[in-house]
Amino acid sequence: QSRELAQTITDVLAVLRETAVAAEPELGRLDAIAGDGDHGQGMSYGTTGAWRAAAAALARGAGARTLLVRAGEAWSEAAGGTSGALWGGALSAVGAALSDDAPAGSADIVRAVEHGGQAILRLGGAEPGDKTMVDALVPFTTVLSERFASGEPLPRAWTRAAEAASHAARATAEIPARRGRSRVLGQKSVGTPDPGATSFALLMSAVAESGLL
Ligand code: ADP
Ligand code: MG
Ligand code: MG
Repeated sequence: QSRELAQTITDVLAVLRETAVAAEPELGRLDAIAGDGDHGQGMSYGTTGAWRAAAAALARGAGARTLLVRAGEAWSEAAGGTSGALWGGALSAVGAALSDDAPAGSADIVRAVEHGGQAILRLGGAEPGDKTMVDALVPFTTVLSERFASGEPLPRAWTRAAEAASHAARATAEIPARRGRSRVLGQKSVGTPDPGATSFALLMSAVAESGLL
């Protein structure tokens, strides 16, 4: 049961990696406008490191919890930047909310994802409106939790949540950046969506479309 979950999580990480690698040039372009241009590379390296660590853990017979904690550590290490540390911390937090042996149902998965989202808020300290990945994360977890609580099956709730994240990521184009960048660069970012919010929405949409949920 948990081994099946560990396999599915590894497959999801492979989807994240494919998506990040394909989006690398565009994410780099967005980050170059008001940041340092490395977000595409960071997401490619991070997802690749996470997927490799998960595959290795799976081969050793690791359960979902151990596998995700390792994958998160590998993401942070491989990516290097701010978003890598936050994604890595989130993945490890998702893992910490799961078990290595007990089977996980949809409700456990939603709860674990909420836990991962909370790790990003806690570690990064950003709030909605700061023009960061939090602007896509918060609508994602809110819609996921609400839809699931109201009885929608996980795949449908996830699709709605990914749509909300995509909409919110596009809307970050209108706000000047406040966090992780100077004010001058912040003004320069008006008209361009936040790279981290954009990649978050892309990755969650890819999971929705993967058929793995
Ligand atoms: P770096 O800024 O170290 O070069 P990346 O380019 O990979 O890292 O990531 C930049 C993205 O990280 C931003 O677009 C933003 O979405 C996200 N980010 C930056 N600081 C924070 C924070 N404190 N909380 C949440 N997300 C953040
Ligand atoms: Mg950057
Ligand atoms: Mg950087």
